[in-house]
Amino acid sequence: MNLLHADILVVDDNPANVQLLLDMLEDHGYEKLEGCSLPLQAMERICRQPPDLLLLDIRMPELSGHQILTRLRERFGEEAPPVIVLTAQTDQDTRMRSLELGARDFLTKPFHQGEVLQRIENVLQVQSLMNLKTSKALLLEQLVEERTAELQKRSVEDPLTSLPNRRALLEELQHRLDNGQPSCVLFLAFEGIDDLARLNGYELADSAVLAIRDRLQALSGGHFTMAVWNSSEWVLLTASCPDNDRIADDVIHALGQSFDVGGVSFHLASRIGISDTAHSQQADQLVRMAALAVPPENNSWGRYSFSLEDELLRRTAYREALHNAIAQNELFLLYQPKISVAEERVVSAEALLRWRSEELGLVPPDFFIPLAESSGEILEIGDWVIQEAIRQLSEWMAAGVIDDDFHIALNVSAQQLMQADFASSLISRIRSAGLNASCIEVEVTETGLMQNMEHAMQQLRVLSQAGVSVAIDDFGTGYSSLSYLKSLPVSVLKIDRVFVADLDTSEQDRNLAETVIQMAENFGFTTVAEGVEKEEHVNILAAMGCGIMQGFYYSPPLPADIFITFVREFEMSGQ
Ligand code: C2E
Ligand code: CA
Ligand code: CA
Repeated sequence: MNLLHADILVVDDNPANVQLLLDMLEDHGYEKLEGCSLPLQAMERICRQPPDLLLLDIRMPELSGHQILTRLRERFGEEAPPVIVLTAQTDQDTRMRSLELGARDFLTKPFHQGEVLQRIENVLQVQSLMNLKTSKALLLEQLVEERTAELQKRSVEDPLTSLPNRRALLEELQHRLDNGQPSCVLFLAFEGIDDLARLNGYELADSAVLAIRDRLQALSGGHFTMAVWNSSEWVLLTASCPDNDRIADDVIHALGQSFDVGGVSFHLASRIGISDTAHSQQADQLVRMAALAVPPENNSWGRYSFSLEDELLRRTAYREALHNAIAQNELFLLYQPKISVAEERVVSAEALLRWRSEELGLVPPDFFIPLAESSGEILEIGDWVIQEAIRQLSEWMAAGVIDDDFHIALNVSAQQLMQADFASSLISRIRSAGLNASCIEVEVTETGLMQNMEHAMQQLRVLSQAGVSVAIDDFGTGYSSLSYLKSLPVSVLKIDRVFVADLDTSEQDRNLAETVIQMAENFGFTTVAEGVEKEEHVNILAAMGCGIMQGFYYSPPLPADIFITFVREFEMSGQ
């Protein structure tokens, strides 16, 4: 700041002194000068418009300089204008007292021009620096305040949806619990946004999330509030627990209706887990319990119960143990013969995986395979199965214990099939073992194919072109649409054992089996019946034209060496 622009007020009851100082300052170039010889009037002017500098006499009638200093302090505190006191040389006590009251400096009467100007300039200089500092501090303070408000907002709000975030939700829920308000947690998990983002970009996925929010908000009608737990898991809070079933149904239904966002149409599969105040009074526990209650099936909801905790512990222990199963050599394959009825010989074997855990004993595949699928471990395990089956087959071939056209069927889960290089890697492994591609058959389920029909189709095409045959497993339990099979590079249909089981007693199952077998024949597929347990099954199926049987009637799944004994004895017995 230009010091000459400073607003300087001179207060002295002696007008001559006032004039003297004003003249001196004016001569020196100061532009905003005012003098006053009436202290009360001066005080009024200071309050109305605080000057940048006050030159103040002490001994004055009505109001002394000390009194003015005191009032300035009371009135302005730290921000009182700087004061230079005008005193006589001898007045030591007055000077002391002035300093105590906050005076910055003194001008001694009679005034010495050079000193007066220098002292005034010094005080103005210091003041201007102080002002600068103060204004910077103010600015900083304001910035900090804004930033704090922003952080505060961010700490309780999901940035995309502006819905309460995890922290705000837990606070709100705990608040309700502490106040004895009935509260229920619906933990909503939805699927599909990730794929949407991968296919159409993150911007569209963000818009999709906003559309979901809007749809649920419209649905809520004040019956629930929403919070974002993470991008694909939200929490709904309701007060009236009896209505939860309906709310859960409505939410699932609403999300299942198609959305149209940015020209892309999609719908979401969702699952909901529910917990309520009867289960816990602790907000985070209540949310955890609701999350635990989320059922595995899409578009369904479940309620928390204590048994879920045991189940979780059990699954965690098994998953942990399964993680080490390969390294600890706990996996092995059994081979179940497939018999050609017409040729009376074993034409194939289905490799069936077994896990004998050191801690947990023999674990059924129907339990551990879904577990491996959910943890992703199925890829490594599936790899091991392929490697072991190929090894076993090479060993049998080399020993000459099986026919040249014998093949092993491998169960392949959807996740394996979804790998980009599944087919090519399987083919190259078969070849590098010196085997024919036709030595291996893969069994895939209809549900596995449906996950991504186009990709599955392409993988299967590569396999079948190389000579690996492809079987549809559990036929009849999935989508069961024979028409789509026409377009698939499939050569074998395995009729599921549930249809075989009642063939001899249920006419309906007989009709079904017959229809499937005839259509399969029309399409040029081979049919295999699994779960053949009785001679009647064999007779009925054979009469219908099903050529290949697999089941306990012939043999359960067998260890490799016993399987070979079975093959030999079966052929000798000429059964
Ligand atoms: P799946 O592919 O349908 O396998 C046939 C199942 O039927 C086997 O059960 C077999 O032991 C059983 N079975 C065979 N004959 C009969 C019979 O006459 N009557 C009855 N009631 N059952 C019979 P398992 O070995 O317990 O396997 C269960 C499922 O585990 C398999 O069903 C398959 O989906 C899966 N699995 C087995 N091994 C593997 C594998 O290596 N990879 C993958 N991804 N899944 C596998
Ligand atoms: Ca199978
Ligand atoms: Ca099956």
